[in-house]
Amino acid sequence: MAEVDDAFGFDEPIQPAAYLGPTSLDDALALLAEHGDEAKVLAGGQSLLVFLRQGLLAPSHLIGLRGIAELRRLEATPDGGLTVGAMVTQHTLETSPLVQARFPALADAAAVIASPPVRRQGTLGGNLCHADPTGDPPAALIALGADVEIARAGGSRRLPVEDLFRDYMDPAIEADELLVAIHVPPPAPRSGVAYLKYRLRGVDTALVGVGFGATLAEDGATCADVRIGLVGAGTTPLRATEAEAVLRGAPLTDERLAAAARAAAHECAPLSDTEASEWYRREMVEVFVRRAAQVALRRIDGGNAA
Ligand SMILES: Cc1cc2nc3c(=O)[nH]c(=O)nc-3n(C[C@H](O)[C@H](O)[C@H](O)COP(=O)(O)OP(=O)(O)OC[C@H]3O[C@@H](n4cnc5c(N)ncnc54)[C@H](O)[C@@H]3O)c2cc1C
Repeated sequence: MAEVDDAFGFDEPIQPAAYLGPTSLDDALALLAEHGDEAKVLAGGQSLLVFLRQGLLAPSHLIGLRGIAELRRLEATPDGGLTVGAMVTQHTLETSPLVQARFPALADAAAVIASPPVRRQGTLGGNLCHADPTGDPPAALIALGADVEIARAGGSRRLPVEDLFRDYMDPAIEADELLVAIHVPPPAPRSGVAYLKYRLRGVDTALVGVGFGATLAEDGATCADVRIGLVGAGTTPLRATEAEAVLRGAPLTDERLAAAARAAAHECAPLSDTEASEWYRREMVEVFVRRAAQVALRRIDGGNAA
């Protein structure tokens, strides 16, 4: 056991970090500009505190975001979209009537994260910034066509969720930047979006997870647009663009959906680990793209079917 403890740094003295608790976004960005590389932002702490406890990170300062009301807003935009502040918890998303009714794929993804205690503390912003390739929300947000808003002192930028992930647990957020909000566009007419997770045990992370969003053309049969997000299928969450190309502009028949599912399994790049081989993950991507598509298509025209 001592060897295991040593490997995880449990025997190392933990260097205390100075805690800073800004109460405004401007103050948080000023603190990040000042402390830059040496600081870490603390959201719900569900992932960061594990890393600190294991000695994998030793920041000089922790910049806690709990006191910043602006980061907790969850609101419909005038055009029917959704703004989710980075500090909105997974539990809030899972239980919000607005999210359940208008953006059920996001509620789907939040509801299958870990366990209720983790979801009550863990935030959507923290989940995205942790950039775990098996995290659930990225696939749903890719299917929903969401953007993230990233700010630093004196400016901000937006990028599509699929562009947030540079590499394994490496989000495209610099040391002086903060993920401020997630912006989900309004659902298009005749569209449906779903997220399905496949896992081996009740509270596991995803073996694979699929977000599928489709918009029908006016004829009610042709795919006008489609977005497919995958997790557990590479070193980062992915957008399955080759699979999307199989469907866009084509009739949404079972045969086309099966061909798109095969394309997704081909274009992704899963890893083998103790839970599953690369081969098995590809097989499950194929199965779950088909299943997520079926749920998404049932949701078109206001259906909220699971
Ligand atoms: C037992 C367990 C099981 C889990 N299972 C799942 C699962 O099945 N599916 C799933 O999706 N997730 C799972 N998670 C992860 C969970 O969703 C975490 O809540 C999430 O990854 C981190 O969110 P947080 O708010 O706790 O962030 P923290 O742990 O506070 O922060 C995580 C990282 O993001 C950075 N950060 C946080 N917020 C910001 C911000 N606004 N701007 C810039 N950087 C920021 C932090 O500095 C840190 O590096 C699990 C976690 C645990 C502990």
